[in-house]
Amino acid sequence: MGKNDKDKKPAKRSDKLAEIEKLLKNYRVESGKNFRLKDFDAGSTAGYPQKRKEEGKEEADTILSRGVEWLAELQDRLYAQDRYALLCIFQAMDAAGKDGTIKHVMSGVNPQGCQVYSFKQPSFEELDHDFMWRYQRCLPERGRIGIFNRSYYEEVLVVRVHNEILAAHKLPEKLKTKAIWDERLEDMAAFEKYLSRNGIMVLKFFLNVSKAEQKKRFLARIDIPKKNWKFSSADVIERGYWNDYQKAYEEAIKATASKEAPWYIIPADNKWFTRLAVIAAIVHKLESLDLQYPEVDKKQKAELEKAKTLLLSEK
Ligand code: ATP
Ligand code: MG
Repeated sequence: MGKNDKDKKPAKRSDKLAEIEKLLKNYRVESGKNFRLKDFDAGSTAGYPQKRKEEGKEEADTILSRGVEWLAELQDRLYAQDRYALLCIFQAMDAAGKDGTIKHVMSGVNPQGCQVYSFKQPSFEELDHDFMWRYQRCLPERGRIGIFNRSYYEEVLVVRVHNEILAAHKLPEKLKTKAIWDERLEDMAAFEKYLSRNGIMVLKFFLNVSKAEQKKRFLARIDIPKKNWKFSSADVIERGYWNDYQKAYEEAIKATASKEAPWYIIPADNKWFTRLAVIAAIVHKLESLDLQYPEVDKKQKAELEKAKTLLLSEK
């Protein structure tokens, strides 16, 4: 806290929300029109100083820890109200910080109200179904925040970049046409509309790391023993397809950005900023739902009073 902070009045919720909105609108994509990935800077920190020692960085840290508390409070209401669910999808190139972001953002949240799923290569059983099957089974229940660490978007990313994956799928050959990517994207957009019409709100995060920063992080995984386990030489091979992935991401975002299920292109070269922006987006969404604790009616109130009398009369 700064020296004069105790003299300041605590900011009103609406002021804090307005501040968050100012930050978020730089990164939110609600329509694919004119969308280009290269217009987004992976190193952006929305004007906050980048380094911890620079003056003003403390402010960002405070916002982050307040964000964790704020999210915890909102999640409690989401759970108690038991009407809406929130699905947060995380997509990114390797080493963009998906795992760390999920860990930090959810650090204050009651684990009972949160469901996290990581999606890897599909199993034989999963391949015996339509592509959405395995994701659909993992959707959050009402009152919960669901996290997808990778998601059905992989079906138009890794599968699109590596044609041989689709070739090996058991889909009828005549359905494997050039149009398949557009068709899948259309289905995903429709699916997200369907979810939002059911009270399952969707937020999609693309953690936008630069190619140079990814290289730095891979090298750190090789050089620092504690990070060795995170390194996979397959990731370096995948890096060779960088441009193909950027193109596939751009097409996917363009085709599926909507008001009801926006994409956030989160700058990911500075981990602390990634966390701050993601938490801000989740808080912003939950605040828009006007979540309230259920009210008890007269009859329930009378029952509570009766129970209280009973408890107090215990010997
Ligand atoms: P980390 O490397 O940080 O542990 P990760 O999400 O990269 O996390 P990995 O086990 O390294 O996890 O990789 C999972 C792999 O599974 C990714 O290469 C991803 O592209 C792949 N994958 C996910 N979904 C699909 C899918 N539907 N079809 C094919 N491959 C998929
Ligand atoms: Mg990986």
